[in-house]
Amino acid sequence: MTQTRIVIVGGGFGGFSVARRLLRSSISNRIAVTIVDPSSASVYTPWLYEVASGGLLEDSLRADLVRATDILLDQFSGIRFRKCAIQSVDPVVRNVICADGSAIPYDICVFAVGSVSNNFGIPGVKQFATDLKRTSDALMIRTELSNIIQSSSTKTKRIVIAGAGASGTEFAAELVATIRALEKRGAIAHRFVEVMLIDSADTPLQMLSPFLRKKAQARLRDLGVVLRMNTALANVAEHSVGLKRIVKGIPSEKIETVSCDYCVTALGVKMPEIVALLLFEKHPKGRILVDDALRVLEYRDIFVLGDAAFVNNGKYPDPQTAQVAVEQSIVVAKNIVAMITKRPVVLYRQRKAWDILIALGGKHAVGKAFGVPIWGYTAYILRRLVDARYFFSVLPLWSACVRVVKGVAVYGKNETP
Ligand SMILES: Cc1cc2nc3c(=O)[nH]c(=O)nc-3n(C[C@H](O)[C@H](O)[C@H](O)COP(=O)(O)OP(=O)(O)OC[C@H]3O[C@@H](n4cnc5c(N)ncnc54)[C@H](O)[C@@H]3O)c2cc1C
Repeated sequence: MTQTRIVIVGGGFGGFSVARRLLRSSISNRIAVTIVDPSSASVYTPWLYEVASGGLLEDSLRADLVRATDILLDQFSGIRFRKCAIQSVDPVVRNVICADGSAIPYDICVFAVGSVSNNFGIPGVKQFATDLKRTSDALMIRTELSNIIQSSSTKTKRIVIAGAGASGTEFAAELVATIRALEKRGAIAHRFVEVMLIDSADTPLQMLSPFLRKKAQARLRDLGVVLRMNTALANVAEHSVGLKRIVKGIPSEKIETVSCDYCVTALGVKMPEIVALLLFEKHPKGRILVDDALRVLEYRDIFVLGDAAFVNNGKYPDPQTAQVAVEQSIVVAKNIVAMITKRPVVLYRQRKAWDILIALGGKHAVGKAFGVPIWGYTAYILRRLVDARYFFSVLPLWSACVRVVKGVAVYGKNETP
């Protein structure tokens, strides 16, 4: 029997979840699934803040930290993995073209290349700051922080985190919680490291309700995070950052220079270049327009999901989160099965509001579950359950159990209640 060739571009949340769901479906013996990705791992990004701040004085933990977040793509029977970036898709001949010029033919293509960090062209960010997007970024941040806290100088060190959305805030909170734990153990001097979180908005975590934002702010203050809200990052230099105060939404002309030992940016995301190069219809902000079945408007055999997709005529723009990518992967997998078995496709239903749980250092989180505001230890436990749910949804049972137990154990080393 000839197999239907399914080529998945991007093995992150969306792409990898589609592959795993297809291989567990009724048509698994009728398909050949290939994932094409320049990275050999599907990264569990919600744990990157743990990798970046984990075991700062224990170099031996490095491998364990990464083992929990990175799912290696070449380890699954049934998935062929091609380690390369694609540079275009030829939808007429039905080929995906790799960076080395080779072509991979497909019958059905799934496009899930995600997004890249946006630094808004702020001078110095590329040279002197690191963004938290991939595992390699998290490891680089961890190495730099580890060197800083072990430096022989006694001068207070300042780490600036620009962007108080979910990733920047989670990282700031966990870093400070780790530093407090090291202070308690006498491993570093009290208040030797200051962590400053800056954002142009008036509070961190604008996606939360005012009530939950207050809870989060109180937690960050208790931990000792220095909050500089209504403040825009104007530039980054080797040992300083330039900050602009924002008054009534307008950044001041004056730039205040603040000393800084290390700057991490979490300013938002934009579309990768490959998306701009593809000739599919796009939303004005660059995401690829898809129909309710998550297919590009021009070709019924190309699906797009995750950060790169925008539902055409949708009621709301879907947030660019793993949650959305995974939810969409269920629809894409079902629709591929439907195409092959010649059944009607199912439609993706947008949600007005998504549950959200943001880790706030140690055994603490804040957010909304089943529409109900939740914070503290209960929210932390729920957040860990959400992490576990993902691994159980895409990995074989034993492998998911090992990953969850090991992840929670290795990250728990930083956590004090
Ligand atoms: C630090 C951090 C923390 C986060 N925390 C959360 C959270 O707690 N909860 C949540 O819901 N979301 C979270 N997110 C957002 C979440 O990671 C993304 O929304 C999600 O990864 C999007 O899934 P995706 O499949 O679209 O893309 P990704 O998961 O980013 O996967 C894209 C894949 O495409 C590959 N790729 C890129 N270009 C090419 C190319 N040219 N050819 C082939 N392959 C290519 C990439 O290597 C990558 O593997 C976080 C993001 C970050 C950075």
